[in-house]
Formats: sequence, C-alpha cells, structure tokens
Amino acid sequence: MSEEIKTGFVKVKSVLTKSDLPIAGYSVNPYIGCTHACRYCYACFMKRFTGHAEPWGTFLDVKYWDKIKNPRKYDGQTMIVGSVTDAYNPQEEQFCRTREFLEEMQGSNINLIVTTKSDLVVRDLDLIKTFPSPLVSWSINTLDEKFKEDMDKAVSVQRRIAAMKKCHDEGIRTTCFISPIFPEITDVFAIIDKIKDFCDYIWLENLNLRGNFKADILNYIAEKYPDRKSLYQQIYTKNDVTYWEILNRQVEEYATKNGLMYITDKEPFLRDPNGKPVIINYFYHSQIKQSAKRQ
Ligand code: SF4
Repeated sequence: MSEEIKTGFVKVKSVLTKSDLPIAGYSVNPYIGCTHACRYCYACFMKRFTGHAEPWGTFLDVKYWDKIKNPRKYDGQTMIVGSVTDAYNPQEEQFCRTREFLEEMQGSNINLIVTTKSDLVVRDLDLIKTFPSPLVSWSINTLDEKFKEDMDKAVSVQRRIAAMKKCHDEGIRTTCFISPIFPEITDVFAIIDKIKDFCDYIWLENLNLRGNFKADILNYIAEKYPDRKSLYQQIYTKNDVTYWEILNRQVEEYATKNGLMYITDKEPFLRDPNGKPVIINYFYHSQIKQSAKRQ
C-alpha cells in the first residue's frame, strides 16, 4: 500500500490545535491526510485546506513542529490525538511523529485520548501509561472482515480487538467506538458481546452521509446489499429517523438486560462502579429529540 502513497513533509509551529470538540480542549494531528482511506471519512473535508488534488487516502504529509517546551503548562487539559487523521497510520511506524509528541509531553498531567483504527498504538504503551488516566479508543463498526476491507485500509477488526484487550489488561481505559453504524449491516449487539469484557466505554454513532462520499456509499449499498437499498434511500434521502429511534430503544433494552449503563453524551467519562462498560449514544440526538417532542 505504501508505494501508492504520496508522502510529503511540512513544518508547523505547533502540533497542538485548540479544539471545540465537546470532549477535548486540544487536538493533536501529527499528519495531514490519512492513509486508512475510509470511504465514509468525515475528515476528508480537510483536503480543501491541504493543497492536495489527489484523492483522500492517497497522500500523507508528515508534520514536524517546534518542540513543546513546557508540557506541564497543559496539565488538566484534555488532548485528543487523531481527530482528523489516524495518528497510528502505517507510516507512523517509520516516522514516529506520534511517538515524538508523546515523548515531548512526558511529565505532564494531561488527559490523553487516542483514537485509532490500528494496533500500532500498543508500541507506545510505555509512554501512554505515564499520563494520569489515558484512554484509547478503537473504531469498529463490523465483525465482518470483508465489509471492513470494502470500507477501509486499516488493520483487521481482529487486530483492533486484540489491541483493545492488551491495553485493557495493562490498565488503560478503552473505548470501542461503534462508528459509523451502517443500518442493517453493523450488528451493534454482536460487537458489544465481543468486546464488553475489556472495554470501559462503548460509543455509538450513526452513519452520517454527506459530501462527496454520499453517492459512493449509496452506490455501494445498491450493488452489494440491494435488499437494503430502499432503507438507505428512506434514511438518507428522506431523512427518516425511525431506524435510529428503534435502534435506540433496542440498545436501551439490551443495556437493561445486561446491567449496563446507557447514557447520552452529557457525561462522556462516567464510569460504571462495577467495572462494566458504559454505553454512550452519539447518534441523531437532535432529530430523535425533535421527533420525540412531536409524538
Ligand atoms: S481513520 Fe479516521 S481520519 Fe483516517 S480515513 Fe478513516 S475516518 Fe478518516
């Protein structure tokens, strides 16, 4: 895969960017672009700002920055590593820019969150463990490796799950980010059953189709899952939220039956006193709420 990637190098003043994400004050993206090349990538809007004409997923700019001089200055801040790239793309093995960031932040008391689709993060456990209460999140939206292969170039689902277990065993908080949920393709409950013994949080997010990839995904569904075509039309051209309302209720029932906390995103880091995973719903809040008001 690497030989198809156009790799460049950029010098930036800082790798830290102030973030307006609800869960983090800073985002850290050691690369521009992302070679995991997910077909549904929400971050592909970034391409507009990169000067790249190549398709998203086929280029990667490696960032070099001025060394972080006083990491203690950021004590208490939450930093999310990998908001518009995967900081553990395969090229990180060679360039080690994410590792460099973690080394520069040693000694600080930041709340570190790493989001990834890779198991390369395990390489950096020695550094990650030094932060007060680090959290590593893996995106997993299927257990079907064939569907995964159709959707992204990241490591297999099996490898992500093994990495999650390894981190959990080493005392690091873990999240399974079930995202994006593809209606009637993503089996939310099968995934939860698979990971619930070594996972602290389960975040749920619906597939949100917009921009350039909407047509591509709808064409893919029509070709590979023709029996779901009308459902996707209903959801993505008529904005029908019934599917999400039903799924929301099913998750509620599942959580009750299995003694799991199921909450909305107001307290994303609430922990279950019994050590069970906490399920957090990030899908279609506003629409579900509006629709509930109408009922
Ligand atoms: S891993 Fe994340 S940033 Fe990278 S292509 Fe996939 S969705 Fe986009």
